[in-house]
Amino acid sequence: MTAQQQIHDLTASVPGFPKPGITFRDLTPVFADPSAFRAVTDELLAPFAGSIDAVAGVEARGFLVASAAAYAAGLGVITIRKAGKLPGRVLAHSYDLEYGTATLEIQPDGLAAGARVLLLDDVLATGGTLGASCELLEEAGCTVAGIGVVLELEGLSGRANLAGRTVHALAALP
Ligand code: IMP
Repeated sequence: MTAQQQIHDLTASVPGFPKPGITFRDLTPVFADPSAFRAVTDELLAPFAGSIDAVAGVEARGFLVASAAAYAAGLGVITIRKAGKLPGRVLAHSYDLEYGTATLEIQPDGLAAGARVLLLDDVLATGGTLGASCELLEEAGCTVAGIGVVLELEGLSGRANLAGRTVHALAALP
């Protein structure tokens, strides 16, 4: 079975979470299923295999797929974290949420200049998170080779925030 089929079969929709009016798409059962997790990992990596130097994941669920894909490819993993979690020198990028802003951070020291990075997360919604993550990787001297997500929520037009970038979504919901 393809990753797409398994994502559609296993993703749970939770109305009213985290607040009224929002339907949260819960990928926990996808990650918990051995066959689905393997298919997701393999298919996120496949378009970029052999042409990347590292895999980056966005806290927190992006870490699951990024670490698995990095391990499968024999590469290291880069963590993009919520503000205040990383010690030492960090670069920060803030982006707008529906109400307020959020900030992501990366440790630039130790990243190879010009490294081609595959950026992974679980869900693409408005694209703010992945847009900020791209900015951070590029500010740190890396090249974003592509973006991979398990699920794209098409109604939120996240690709518009990622114009000009290669975005590979394994499955999509309205
Ligand atoms: P964006 O910045 O609006 O694209 O939101 C994407 C980020 O929010 C990702 O890091 C996701 O983990 C999280 N997210 C947004 N909506 C959902 C959802 O329905 N299910 C799971 N995660 C979500």
